[in-house]
Amino acid sequence: MSLKDLNTKIAQCRKCKLWKDTNNAVPGEGPANAKLMLVGQNPGAEEDKTGKPFVGRAGKFLNKVLSENGIDRNEVFVSNIVKHVTPQNRPPFPDEVEACVPYLAAQMELVKPRIVVLMGKVAWQAPRLEGIEYIETVHPSAAMRFTKMRNRFMEDFAALKKRLNVSS
Ligand code: SF4
Repeated sequence: MSLKDLNTKIAQCRKCKLWKDTNNAVPGEGPANAKLMLVGQNPGAEEDKTGKPFVGRAGKFLNKVLSENGIDRNEVFVSNIVKHVTPQNRPPFPDEVEACVPYLAAQMELVKPRIVVLMGKVAWQAPRLEGIEYIETVHPSAAMRFTKMRNRFMEDFAALKKRLNVSS
């Protein structure tokens, strides 16, 4: 299966109730051979409107941190643990994560990134595939709001930059 086929499956998915009242599925995007994958919690309102991941405020913050660390977002595969927006942006329920996470696992299998950064506690539930290094950090929207979280986020991305340089 290709990423395109997977996106079609996600767009047609009815495995949990989140697809109701959405405008678009947000499967994630990035190069099929990306070395780095970033995984967040769920798409928000802006993402639902556009079908693209991390295009709202948290996305802009994420882009800034990537750029500060010399990482080109165009070279990164960006996704979420669930692929449809949640009501009022609430965290996805466990049954929604369970229903959706096979799509993320399939994305990891297809892209085969060297490193996957799991952003936020919900994303930490992602499956771990052999041969991939996983880094857990906080979610960018939490990093935007709370100094302690922001410090951790910055430290983790600075460490990521070093890891990418070592392994490139
Ligand atoms: S959130 Fe995931 S499992 Fe639920 S309907 Fe959307 S694609 Fe399917």
